[in-house]
Amino acid sequence: MQGKILIVDAISTNRIVLKVKLASAFYEVVQAATADEACVAALRHTPDLIISAMALPDCDAAQLCARLHRHPQTRAVPLMVVGCRPDAEARLRALEAGVQDVMLKPIDDTLLLARVRSLIRAHNSAAEWQMRDDTSRALGFAEETTDFGPPGRCVVVGTDTGPTQNMLRQLRPQLRANLTFATPETALRDLAPGKIPDVFILILQQDDTHSGDILRLLAAVRATAITRHAGILVLQQRADPGLGAYALDLGADDLMSDGFDATELTLRVKAMMRRKRIADQLRATVRTGLKAAVSDPLTGLHNRRYAMPHLTRVAEHAAATGRSFAVMVADLDHFKQINDLYGHASGDAVLVEVARRLRENLRGVDLVARIGGEEFLIVMPATPLSEARIAASRLCRKIGGQGFKVPGATEPIHVTISIGVTIGGLRKTPDEATPVDANDLLDVADKALYAAKMQGRNQVNLARPAA
Ligand code: GH3
Ligand code: MG
Ligand code: MG
Repeated sequence: MQGKILIVDAISTNRIVLKVKLASAFYEVVQAATADEACVAALRHTPDLIISAMALPDCDAAQLCARLHRHPQTRAVPLMVVGCRPDAEARLRALEAGVQDVMLKPIDDTLLLARVRSLIRAHNSAAEWQMRDDTSRALGFAEETTDFGPPGRCVVVGTDTGPTQNMLRQLRPQLRANLTFATPETALRDLAPGKIPDVFILILQQDDTHSGDILRLLAAVRATAITRHAGILVLQQRADPGLGAYALDLGADDLMSDGFDATELTLRVKAMMRRKRIADQLRATVRTGLKAAVSDPLTGLHNRRYAMPHLTRVAEHAAATGRSFAVMVADLDHFKQINDLYGHASGDAVLVEVARRLRENLRGVDLVARIGGEEFLIVMPATPLSEARIAASRLCRKIGGQGFKVPGATEPIHVTISIGVTIGGLRKTPDEATPVDANDLLDVADKALYAAKMQGRNQVNLARPAA
């Protein structure tokens, strides 16, 4: 199934005609006759798109849109409206309310399906980011998305300089954006960072002479790393459903097929900029949110949430390849005294410096994670016992051998660390691998650490292999 579409229309024949067209393209269709029914159905079926008649028995499409927007579960579902007769005022009211497109009957089937595809595509990709943002939010790392920010950048691309410049003049007073003009040749040239357009308005002229240049640019904007998230609106000076459908399938987000209208274009571009700003914020919070979710803010090392699945992966890999790996738990000695003597800030400074020294004295493939207050986990893939012992002793020396400068003391202070080591991935017999649970490995290394503490601290203790 391509997606689920809710059709809202009081006239059943209208619903059936539309349903047949959509079902033949493999969409699942649900129906409603009124706005009340539509709101209930939208909650129950979570459609990917709603297509509504302009006028409904209980309200108009703009009001339906406002009602859907009020509910968090239906807020993001795109709404497209089908009108029976040209009514500029109703059309603008609907766009202003947040309706994504208004199409007039009779609707070309190819264009209708291309529009449906583009709206569902945009909705799905927004929904994926929203889902990942929800995960970050659940972990407590994402910030609220806001609708404010500097004015967006918008470039109008046309092959006909005079008329296009004229459009710019009409748009300027209405659109709070940095508006520039470009030709298909110059639009992607010299795009400096911070000057990447948020929206491209691509003008298709009355005659078809330059359509190829515009459509090639459209494909290039989508394929170029720095512009691929930009909004693209294609404006046709003359309706041409086939060409419009093609532009949508190439990746245009919006299509105006009845020529230039400054007010309508402004509304559409504003909506596009708003959607892009929210999508940009979602992408950014997901990126920083995921990073924050797996790292320790004090030392910059990975945290336990990252380290344990990583250890499992290393254990599985070792079981498959037969190469052993080392697991170490390192714990600072008498760390409480450092806090007590020099203050918590000095304790923090010691932790940061310990993390740096551990990291600096291990290989790139080794993992160092902070898994507790003054406790670190080290995982060394493809490492035999002999190498693990040498590495652990080196780490011990690198901490204990050189003092730490801290804010609370005039002289560098002496800090030592104890390390428990175990080896995983050893084979019981030549044929039988021993996959080991990450928690079990950690337990064994912890016991070795305890032994190191008992034997006087500032030393390494090797556990019997966990086999
Ligand atoms: P041992 O040698 O037996 O490990 O003794 P210890 O004092 O290091 O161990 P203990 O577990 O008694 O104390 C650990 C201390 O680490 C207590 C806690 O206040 C401190 N600590 C934990 N996290 C942090 C942190 O983020 N910053 C600072 N400054 N101190 C921390
Ligand atoms: Mg300690
Ligand atoms: Mg401890």
